Amino acid sequence: MTKYTVPRGTRDILPAEVALWQFVEQKAREIFRLYNFREIRTPIFEHTELFLRGIGENTDIISKEMYNFQDRKGRSLTLRPEGTASVVRAYLESNLHKQEALSKLWYQGPMFRYERPQAGRYRQFHQMGCEVLGAVSAYQDTEVIALAQHFFETIGLRGLEVHINSVGCPICRPVIKERLKSFLGDNLNNLCEDCRKRFETNPLRILDCKNPECNEFFVMLPDISDVLCAECKEHYHDVQNYLNIMRIKYMVNPRLVRGLDYYTKTVFEVISSHLGAQNAVCGGGRYDNLIQELGGPSIPAVGFAFGLERAVLIMQNQKVTVPGRTPYLLLLPLGENAGNRAAIFANKLRRKNIPLEIDISGRGLSAKLKTANKLGVRYVYILGEDELVDKCGQLKDMRDGRQKKIRFDKFLAEMEKKYKKDNRS
Ligand code: AMP
Repeated sequence: MTKYTVPRGTRDILPAEVALWQFVEQKAREIFRLYNFREIRTPIFEHTELFLRGIGENTDIISKEMYNFQDRKGRSLTLRPEGTASVVRAYLESNLHKQEALSKLWYQGPMFRYERPQAGRYRQFHQMGCEVLGAVSAYQDTEVIALAQHFFETIGLRGLEVHINSVGCPICRPVIKERLKSFLGDNLNNLCEDCRKRFETNPLRILDCKNPECNEFFVMLPDISDVLCAECKEHYHDVQNYLNIMRIKYMVNPRLVRGLDYYTKTVFEVISSHLGAQNAVCGGGRYDNLIQELGGPSIPAVGFAFGLERAVLIMQNQKVTVPGRTPYLLLLPLGENAGNRAAIFANKLRRKNIPLEIDISGRGLSAKLKTANKLGVRYVYILGEDELVDKCGQLKDMRDGRQKKIRFDKFLAEMEKKYKKDNRS
């Protein structure tokens, strides 16, 4: 054991796993581009006030999970627990809303929540997400759901479910809460301690409780979709209609609510059975009032974020493999003079964008060939002292084991030709 360990709830991502992360990040970037989203980068910390205002004081995130600190001038700052509030702040601060009617933005980066760590739940985790600001149509709710589904398909995940619900708006939400409270009020003793607290502060969140005893009791809950106002009902209907015509599979889940207060109307999650208790890999929804709440005009919006740790965890569980990042060539010089020659080749070939490694150690040929196998390279070029005299080396094809002499003056052009051919197919 080393003396120093990572802080609880954080983790190192080692090179073997980074290959999966890079694949996920690259595919997400490609999909965002396909749906015409542009990237935005915001700071990792913000004024605490932004999150208090944006996320809602009675949420778990605000009441017990924030990483707050004071800077040297006594300002209260917070490590961001999520991305949407920052994106909206930046959008308003830079007056993007005055320049375009529709802004489609995506972001990525670490987020921080002081949660109880468990599989798939960390205190520092990573999200990629997107926001459609100026989302006037129910089509836009569907477009982000379509994007999420398209993305998870592209990275090879199987068996995911899209769950949708509507949590209403400031007009019908109080009615929904009352309906829930009048039902739950008589049954408070059947609920866990957390739920009893939420009954006063945030009754909708009770629906989200993972406690098995509460769950047993919830099957009797009234359906909240009956009490949506006419506008929310119509919107919910339109979202489902678009989902149907776009042939996107989904499940209506009347118990789906989210941990952030800013959502209105549509909420959705992408769920995997490969994640254990923390089964959501992606969550989002519409937030028609947040922009105004943060000091801007009334502009409707919709977005989502997915967690990279959870996406990668599912890939590992489902044994999804990604293209490797092995060097194409390994240069194997034997002896000092050969080492000099190999160093010159390495320098020139890397400038031709051919990924390679050079084994400059004093080990013998058979040990060096073992490294070549381990690395999984396509070719090995052996430069022995004898071969230096003839000004040629042996090029070994690691797929079929065949070896042929290649003269030094032909080697660079030959490698370039082979690399181009292999990367075209
Ligand atoms: P949220 O921002 O709570 O809507 O979460 C969106 C997604 O971020 C979730 O579906 C998870 O994939 C991921 N996520 C949220 N909290 C955590 C956490 N503590 N650890 C790891 N991933 C998380």
